[in-house]
Amino acid sequence: MFKIKRRKTRTVKIGNIKIGSGHPVAIQSMVKVRASDVEASVVQINDLQRAGCEIVRIAVEDLKDASAIAAIKRKTRLPLVADIHFDHRLALASIESGVDKIRLNPGNIYKESHVRSVIDAAKQAHIPIRIGANSGSLRTRSSDTAGALVKSVQEYLKVFKRMKFHDIVISLKGSGILETIYAYKKMARVCDYSFHLGVTATGLPLDGVVKSSAGMGVLLFAGIGDTIRVSLLEQPSEEVRVAQLLLASLGLRTFGPQLVCCPTCGRCEVDLSAKAHRFEALLSQLSNSEKELLKNTKIALMGCVVNGPGEARDAEAGIAFSRHKGILFEKGQIVKTVGLASGEKELFNQLKKVIKKNRR
Ligand code: SF4
Repeated sequence: MFKIKRRKTRTVKIGNIKIGSGHPVAIQSMVKVRASDVEASVVQINDLQRAGCEIVRIAVEDLKDASAIAAIKRKTRLPLVADIHFDHRLALASIESGVDKIRLNPGNIYKESHVRSVIDAAKQAHIPIRIGANSGSLRTRSSDTAGALVKSVQEYLKVFKRMKFHDIVISLKGSGILETIYAYKKMARVCDYSFHLGVTATGLPLDGVVKSSAGMGVLLFAGIGDTIRVSLLEQPSEEVRVAQLLLASLGLRTFGPQLVCCPTCGRCEVDLSAKAHRFEALLSQLSNSEKELLKNTKIALMGCVVNGPGEARDAEAGIAFSRHKGILFEKGQIVKTVGLASGEKELFNQLKKVIKKNRR
């Protein structure tokens, strides 16, 4: 059995979520409205929670945003991270408002007295700080941007070390994927702090999915990364879905049943894509506890009866379709023939039986 060996990192607590190598890689996302719009922020955060998000970040642009955090926290349950740039007073006000973690950018909040005051307040509030460096805001230019990112964080860390503050999460975002990968790998060799992974400015949603998966996939495979955020020009809940699929595909986490479909070829005589979407809609009706019972279950939808059951041999259950019917199989063995139109529903009923069996 192949398994990724995680890099050993310190545990950091963000609200009720712990991250670090002793804990699952946590999924986070970001609210895409102003914090001061409390109602809209609450709607997005609750949507994110339903989608499976575990930590949520919110941009704090002014004191109005910072003070809105208290109201948002009263109406939501996810740990909340305040994203701060340029003005350290916004970090202080967010902490005052009850935020669960602060993100500081070393490229634009660097005056030692300012950083010290934020560390002091975080210490008092027992909350962590993410040092979130990105190449766009580096204060010194270098052709080795990965090295420059690491250097800027190491410089920044000196103040934290002097103040004996170790509740730290680090992120290093380069303008390109390779740069980002090199930076994280370099940083991983010099500290044992937990890492937040992300690839920024990715483009349209499909580019975002590919670039995030490529960049974070390489790092996660190397055991690097304790929390991830997939950035997409999309609804925040889509970011969570992609993050779940990424972690599940690497065997780092499981989230309900795993649907696999063949890509179809000339042998396929049905609209497999439509069937897969209909089946996914049925899966979304499962409750969280039902999904939990199916979390290691692979389900297959295959486009032909010639190769389908064999190609999906390792699936718990599946259907292979021909022009007029479907063949329901379990672990590669044919169980029964089902109608073409009722196939997805029959497979779903089969899943319900697996749930019943797993409940016993
Ligand atoms: S299962 Fe059948 S239809 Fe699907 S890719 Fe394989 S051979 Fe083609």
